[in-house]
Amino acid sequence: MSESNVHKRKIYNQIEVFGFMEKRSWIEGPEISPLRYSINNRNCPVRNSFDSIEGVERKESIKLFDNLFWQSWHEERNMPKEAKEWFEARVKEFKAGRDIDLVCNCRRFKGQDDDVGLLAKYPLDCHGYTLKKYIEFLAGNLNIGY
Ligand SMILES: [Zn+2]
Repeated sequence: MSESNVHKRKIYNQIEVFGFMEKRSWIEGPEISPLRYSINNRNCPVRNSFDSIEGVERKESIKLFDNLFWQSWHEERNMPKEAKEWFEARVKEFKAGRDIDLVCNCRRFKGQDDDVGLLAKYPLDCHGYTLKKYIEFLAGNLNIGY
């Protein structure tokens, strides 16, 4: 098999949840740059608002966010307007085929729970996975009237 017949291995999903020091890298280009969104800044409508509560561990705060999200925001349709608009914009980009990076400041790199010592304080989980799931959910369910 010649070099040109070898397809570039797809190592990234269309939506990736990254730590703040991570980005996509390719062996060869050109690629359309992914859209990058910080998802835990103070002004971000889809930040994990439980993150900053004193005494709540990050792991717990992610669980709390996920519960709020599916129970209140989705089931009971209590999603704040700004968050709704944020999702609508991401779904549009997702359907247009753009790569989307959801960048969270809760960890430097993803998957560091496997590491020991200092790195272990960065969680494997991130509320970004809830966001990713919801964008994909919305994109595949056009008639959902939330
Ligand atoms: Zn996070």
